[in-house]
Amino acid sequence: MQLEDGFGRTFRYLRLSLTEACNFRCSYCLPDGFKKCAGPGPLTLDELRRAATVFASLGLTKIRLTGGEPTIRPDFDAIAETIAAVPGIQKLALTTNGYRLEKRAQTWATAGIRALNVSLDSLDPATFHAITGHDRCLEVMRGIDAAFEAGFETVKLNAVLMKGVNDHEIDGFLALAKDRPLDVRFIELMETGDHAAFFRDHHIDADVITGKLAAGGWTPKLKAADAGPANDFVHPDFKGSVGLIAPYSKDFCASCNRLRFSSLGKLHLCLFGDFGIPMRQWLQSDDQMTEFRDRLIAAVRRKTAGHRLADGVTGMTRNLSAIGG
Ligand code: SAM
Ligand code: SF4
Repeated sequence: MQLEDGFGRTFRYLRLSLTEACNFRCSYCLPDGFKKCAGPGPLTLDELRRAATVFASLGLTKIRLTGGEPTIRPDFDAIAETIAAVPGIQKLALTTNGYRLEKRAQTWATAGIRALNVSLDSLDPATFHAITGHDRCLEVMRGIDAAFEAGFETVKLNAVLMKGVNDHEIDGFLALAKDRPLDVRFIELMETGDHAAFFRDHHIDADVITGKLAAGGWTPKLKAADAGPANDFVHPDFKGSVGLIAPYSKDFCASCNRLRFSSLGKLHLCLFGDFGIPMRQWLQSDDQMTEFRDRLIAAVRRKTAGHRLADGVTGMTRNLSAIGG
């Protein structure tokens, strides 16, 4: 049995948010910092295990832990170890702001995390501080070194490019991929409900980046049939590669192979959808897993063809920390 939507897209990849909370205050995501609201806490270790087990039984082979900042959870190491051990999960990945990476890289690799994405929007400590509210630029860079030493299968650096903020740093990011197999991923700034003005001031069209890459001798890599939405580029003088995430491009949704499960147990069929389908109530005991499975199969059939971001429709997504980018 394989999860499939009404458009024939099948799903092998789940982004699992462990928390909405974050210690950083990225200007495009949580500029005022995370504000705790009253209400239920994030999914427990057991709830996460049950969800992952059912998703895997329906053909999902890759899970990415995200947030908020997933690694702020005190039980993060146990969660990673538990989910890596779920039968059928071939690849456990993590997206992190890297604030604990330098010290924890080896532990996380040993726990079974195989792919690591580290967000780093500037290589300049002052700019990094201005974007995130934290003075941890060099620490995160050392964390990336530690990740290579720890032996993750893939290490990617995520940088959201913003006009007038860090768009002059493209060559600096690329230099990090010269002598090691780092995959630098430039992410086009996305408009979310909270940040219309910020988007207007700082958005850079992905075509501009593609033009710069082409001028620097980077050539597009042929896309594998099961590849996600990133467009990849290679260069003969670089060991690493570049990926461009361009959510406004016309083909972005056609290759969407991901589902999202929020830290409160809601299934999100699109990052910019209008609703999350509450599923937590069927994760309360192992006996409910069959019911959870049936409801999941029915819910995925409701996934729409694509988002309507280009029309300014951002759905219910106020910022990406709520359900993971
Ligand atoms: N806290 C972790 C981190 O920053 O890596 C994981 C969650 S964060 C929401 C996941 C990714 O979404 C990060 O790479 C972040 O830069 C990206 N992101 C957040 N808001 C965004 C926006 N409005 N446009 C584009 N990317 C965004
Ligand atoms: Fe936190 Fe990640 Fe959002 Fe930055 S992008 S505020 S690190 S959740």
